[in-house]
Amino acid sequence: MISEHVTDECLEQYSRGALEEPTLAEVEEHLLICEQCCERLTKFDDTWGLNG
Ligand SMILES: [Zn+2]
Repeated sequence: MISEHVTDECLEQYSRGALEEPTLAEVEEHLLICEQCCERLTKFDDTWGLNG
């Protein structure tokens, strides 16, 4: 079980699809179980969404 939260840097890269394995798998796994990081991720998604 992953206990550490995903860093802002990782979330930002994840939202852009720029994250690579094995970090990508770890982040996805964590997002499934962590509401906090899911909410933080939506902020990054919003930011990039504004740019089209
Ligand atoms: Zn988390």
